[in-house]
Amino acid sequence: MHEPVAKRILVTGGAGFLGSHLCERLLAAGHDVLAVDNYFTGRRSNVAHLLDNPRFELMRHDVCFPLYVEVDEIYNLACPASPIHYQHDPVQTTKVSVMGAINMLGLAKRTRAKVFQTSTSEVYGDPTVHPQNEAYRGNVNPIGPRACYDEGKRCAETLFFDYRRQHGLNVKVARIFNTYGPRMHPNDGRVVSNFIVQALRNEAITVYGDGRQTRSFCYVDDLIEGFVRLMATPDAVTGPVNLGNPAEFTILDLAEAVINLTGSRSRIVHRPLPEDDPMQRKPDIARAREWLDWTPQVKLEEGLKRTVAYFEGLLGRDA
Ligand code: NAD
Ligand code: UDP
Repeated sequence: MHEPVAKRILVTGGAGFLGSHLCERLLAAGHDVLAVDNYFTGRRSNVAHLLDNPRFELMRHDVCFPLYVEVDEIYNLACPASPIHYQHDPVQTTKVSVMGAINMLGLAKRTRAKVFQTSTSEVYGDPTVHPQNEAYRGNVNPIGPRACYDEGKRCAETLFFDYRRQHGLNVKVARIFNTYGPRMHPNDGRVVSNFIVQALRNEAITVYGDGRQTRSFCYVDDLIEGFVRLMATPDAVTGPVNLGNPAEFTILDLAEAVINLTGSRSRIVHRPLPEDDPMQRKPDIARAREWLDWTPQVKLEEGLKRTVAYFEGLLGRDA
């Protein structure tokens, strides 16, 4: 392997869960990293350990407004990601997805930077094909409570491909499936963090619906490896590329795995299934395997152990 050339890389949403891991990874590779974030769901503490690094810079900025910086690559992550957060202010969620994409694409156009969009499996909605491959066009309810996020991300993809066609930009689009790991926000409402926090506190584990809906959970380190590989592909490779772990579990399986790993006294309780909650989700990653030579390495049990250790530290400190 030859030494990578140091680049100036912008990470929007850099103080969030995935953004903080990405910044860490890019700094370790010797790049200059500018993280921008408005701290809506992210926290400075996620990147506090990077602040002493002279190659790292953190800026408070809302991507709904233009940004004038000089960079070689842009990873666009800024957007609330958990259903509770993105439904809190749905109009703002659509704005962040669409205006954030326009602003980052405009920046890429001016600087001729490569630009990477963190799209989502939510573009497939409540899928009618299983597993989901990139050719599937999805089953999204355009007027439901998840639409602000799903349609916002779909429109962002449209913008990425139109900027490519119209302005010749070098774009990369990843469709990310449920990813978990250290630095998830303890209150962000996503299932892995909810279950672990509930289990560590011996509180009821809240399974929505009958718990037979499925998800496929990718450990954060695997996902970040996929990001870096996709960004490094030749100009002709734009995606979209599914990135996720194809091992599929029911939500009840997950609840039981978390209870076993933590030795918790928690009981499972059932709560109503949220509207438009997808019943099945599993990525077809043939494209990522072929184009990126990428396959997730971390099994659910191992990833959960590392995540539990993180939350034990966090909750212990809060106590
Ligand atoms: P996160 O909520 O931890 O991170 C999002 C970050 O964006 C936060 O730091 C937040 O403060 C910031 N942000 C929000 N609005 C902003 C704005 N207007 N300007 C600047 N910063 C803003 O969530 P995450 O899991 O790290 O998700 C990162 C990206 O990956 C999101 O775009 C999300 O849609 C996408 N994604 C994540 C998953 C997953 O499972 N984690 C799955 C699919 C897609
Ligand atoms: N879920 C649950 N209990 C919780 C949180 C979530 O049963 O405390 C379910 C939710 O209804 C969904 C799945 O877990 O079926 C994944 O939810 P999450 O919010 O993590 O992500 P989604 O894939 O729905 O965006």
